[in-house]
Amino acid sequence: MVLRATSVWVLLKRLRSARSVSHCSWRWNSSSARERVIQYTVGEKIHGFTVNQVTAVPELFLTAVKLNHDNTGAQYMHVARDDPNNLFSVQFRTTPLNSTGVPHILEHVVLCGSEKYQCRDPFFKMLTRSLSTFMNAFTASDYTMYPFSTQNSKDFQNLLSVYLDAVFFPCLRELDFWQEGWRLEHDTPDDPSSPLVFKGVVFNEMKGVFANNENVYAQHLQNKLLPDHTYSVISGGDPLHIPKLTWEELKHFHATHYHPSNARFFTYGDLPLEQHLKQIQEQALGKFQKIEPDTSVPIQPRWSEPREYHVTCGPDSMVPDPVKQTTYSVSFLLDDITNSFEAFTLSLLSSLLVSGPNSPFYKALIDARIGTDFAPVVGYDGSTREACFSVGLQGIAEQDVKTVKQIINKTIDEVIENGFEEERIEALLHKIEIQLKHQTTNFGLALASYVATNWNHDGDPVEVLQISEKVARFRQSLKDNPRFLQDKVKHYFKENPHQLALSMSPDEGYLENQTKVEQGKLQEKISSLSMEEKKEIYEKGLELITAQSTPQDVSSLPALKVSDIQRTFPLTPVEMAYVGGEVPVQYCSQPTNGVVYFRAFTSLNTLPEDLKPYIPLFCNVITRMGCASLNYRQLDQLIELKTGGMAASPKILQDIDDLDMYEQGVLFTSLCLDRNLPDMMQLWTDIFNSPHFDDEEHLRVLVMMAAQELSNGIPDSGHQYAAVRAGKTLTPAGNLGEMFDGLSQVQQMKRIAEMPELVTVLRRLPRIKLHLMTNENMRCSVNAAAQEIPEMSKEVEKFIRNVPGFGKKKKDRKLIRSNITEKLLNPEEAGGEVSGGSRATKKLVSEPTFKACQMKTHFQLPFPVNYVSECIRTVPYMNPDFTSLRVLARLLTAKYLHREIREKGGAYGGGATLSHSGLFSFYSYRDPNSLDTISVFRRSVDWAKMGKFTAEDIDEAKLSVFSVVDAPVAPSDKGLDRFLYGISDEIKQKRREQLFAVDHDGLVEVANKYLTTGHSTCGAAILGPENESIARDPTWVQR
Ligand SMILES: [Zn+2]
Repeated sequence: MVLRATSVWVLLKRLRSARSVSHCSWRWNSSSARERVIQYTVGEKIHGFTVNQVTAVPELFLTAVKLNHDNTGAQYMHVARDDPNNLFSVQFRTTPLNSTGVPHILEHVVLCGSEKYQCRDPFFKMLTRSLSTFMNAFTASDYTMYPFSTQNSKDFQNLLSVYLDAVFFPCLRELDFWQEGWRLEHDTPDDPSSPLVFKGVVFNEMKGVFANNENVYAQHLQNKLLPDHTYSVISGGDPLHIPKLTWEELKHFHATHYHPSNARFFTYGDLPLEQHLKQIQEQALGKFQKIEPDTSVPIQPRWSEPREYHVTCGPDSMVPDPVKQTTYSVSFLLDDITNSFEAFTLSLLSSLLVSGPNSPFYKALIDARIGTDFAPVVGYDGSTREACFSVGLQGIAEQDVKTVKQIINKTIDEVIENGFEEERIEALLHKIEIQLKHQTTNFGLALASYVATNWNHDGDPVEVLQISEKVARFRQSLKDNPRFLQDKVKHYFKENPHQLALSMSPDEGYLENQTKVEQGKLQEKISSLSMEEKKEIYEKGLELITAQSTPQDVSSLPALKVSDIQRTFPLTPVEMAYVGGEVPVQYCSQPTNGVVYFRAFTSLNTLPEDLKPYIPLFCNVITRMGCASLNYRQLDQLIELKTGGMAASPKILQDIDDLDMYEQGVLFTSLCLDRNLPDMMQLWTDIFNSPHFDDEEHLRVLVMMAAQELSNGIPDSGHQYAAVRAGKTLTPAGNLGEMFDGLSQVQQMKRIAEMPELVTVLRRLPRIKLHLMTNENMRCSVNAAAQEIPEMSKEVEKFIRNVPGFGKKKKDRKLIRSNITEKLLNPEEAGGEVSGGSRATKKLVSEPTFKACQMKTHFQLPFPVNYVSECIRTVPYMNPDFTSLRVLARLLTAKYLHREIREKGGAYGGGATLSHSGLFSFYSYRDPNSLDTISVFRRSVDWAKMGKFTAEDIDEAKLSVFSVVDAPVAPSDKGLDRFLYGISDEIKQKRREQLFAVDHDGLVEVANKYLTTGHSTCGAAILGPENESIARDPTWVQR
């Protein structure tokens, strides 16, 4: 389920839920950065700017300063907060009136080189010259944003310089426009007899985006609900319209939209504001004079009666029921989002209407089991100037559209009549409280995204942040008028003629038709070409290849050096305790803002093999079926009222010493406010002791939703599914990984969803519970404020003492596998005194006879692009070569794969990674090529073996590894590596030293030693359309 119209096209990909209020505070008890800025006075002039507002927002531990640039009118907001993860962002209002994707292509092209930084692609080159914790750019429906974050002040200045030059002084070279936007080129560029085809990064990216039917639906919905201005077009670009865009139009769009007078700057963190202002003034704004940008979005003229549309999409081969593939929803246009209290109220109201099994629309639509899940766009969407609310279903039969419509209308009437239970409103306000306190590592980015849309339409970004004030006003409004929410429902839903009913169903010929239209446009273009122009196209193709292959002088780009990196890192002390001498609990004291985080890990070692494929389903439903005296609705209500979430997920923990060993289990995670810990632990006790497994109807609902969600997720995570598949035959953990997280699991869930009866499935769940939810091989962890821990430990101990099996004499449950190896969880603990005489151990499955073998799988799926992966079995985390391989993966990505797969190949992305799994994985994302990309992977290894990289290349690769190693970790997640994998700070420090020491010879050596692809160590997988070459190759398995 996507809660937001996916109108934000992310460059590197991430960021989905900017709408939710996410929060954190780093060193929340100090306040130096905030104290510094509170000194500013309104009217004060600083480096060409004038301060016009200073506001403390205590609930978010921040102070906001608003300024205006005197000469250009550029707007600026600084958020001072004692968080070292500083963020910068500049956003422009970009309001296109056609679907050529001009703002999106421009977003790509400005990052390809600028006046001061002429080399090709400085943006990607900075990824390896910086310790950035985030670097990206994205195009929304009505703005384009360029954010970065870093914890290092020198790095901040470097990146700021590159970003400012990119957006205000880009080269906008024609070659870059061809590469990133679209071009005609010979299929094989140096062979003029090969056919001419469309190429380009954005062209392929958008094909990939619309391979996902959820995106198709969300796009149509926005276009049709707001049909009179910029929201009626596709800002990301329609692949069939992109080839209409000219280079001149691109340059014109830049000149009129990327001007300071149309810009909003945002900075966040503990670095001083003056320095930012000075640099921005000197390097950019000082060179401009004010213009009147004509970019605002007018209010949508309201309809006098509802409208209805039907659209088609491609078929989905993975959906649970092929005859039920229709999506239908009704959307209502709401109020202007710059009215921030109304927006806040309407988003709360939307949650009350659609969130969770106690909401009226869930009861009426989901529990009616007409469809598989809510429609892809559901609830409040504030990403346009006027917000909207949508509700409906996907996975319904065509003839059920009418029924859904009736249910929606009836539900609205009932809500107007009955209102909401007070307890649900309280639960929602509790959720806001816990979200305000729960700390994330990218708070600056969350803030920038949270205020972006409102600010974009000249709303007040500070007002948006004053959440406590809004909560108070909301409570007061309810008190003054008990029908406050019902009146809103009446006004915005019942009596609102501006509503859109949109249905979508698949058309077997959809893809074929799309291809035909594209071919038609291609032929049209080709037939209009003169001989001269054809020759030019051929030459341009060669020119582009030459440019892509020419080594770049990057010396003008600023860079951090390896010597700027700290040799050591801050330690995370933890304490171990043992309940009853058997269950270890790791306590990690952290400044958590009054929130406590509890986790438990339990083992799957005694579980019969036939139950294993059901583990993901079990995890999905265990906290959602009811327990003890609570039915599933009551349980959900209590979870909402007392906690910030309780969940379970399957975990395969690769052993850090041996690739043929791993731990298998389930991780239970939860968080709550300190005061609610007794209630939360009671809920866990009830779930562990008496979960309900009797409601087949509700299980059906959960299964349908899970199957739909998995199926919808494939286009966005295709590279991960490909990598999981490619690793299946390489390690025992990889094999199990495919069962839990791979396409096998998607198919398994689809099979279950198709079963006419779920009784047999239902009967398996208590059997799983019996093996899984016991104290045997259980370990727990708690992250909380130091002073709270003594009190917490009592509650946790009480829970553990009540876990089934606790204190009973072990009757040596027969292990299904005899090959279990016991290891200490914390080896360094071995020498010391341990309370209670116990030590934490883990029981690993070891498969010494496992033989890795090669398997190449092609999953034929109805996508216009491919996701390609190849995996190579290398070494476990503790092996000294692991570090060199990790650096090599970064080096290959930055110096070879990015160029070959993205720039030349036209894929959206590609690279190599090495994770704890010990599998070295190559991947490509939204790739027009398939087998050719596998050849690129191979050639990159040859390139590495020849050692044609410089000391500087190595340093850059190290820097990018360090930016991951030193990425901020939220207080909730501190100590997690130790808890799960047994990776202590001592081990990490040793790795760190090895990382500094990686050198040229070592890299060439590991490339030779491990990356030579033999039959026993390498697997491959491709997800993508029908492919003749693969079909002809008998070494590929077709699925
Ligand atoms: Zn893009």
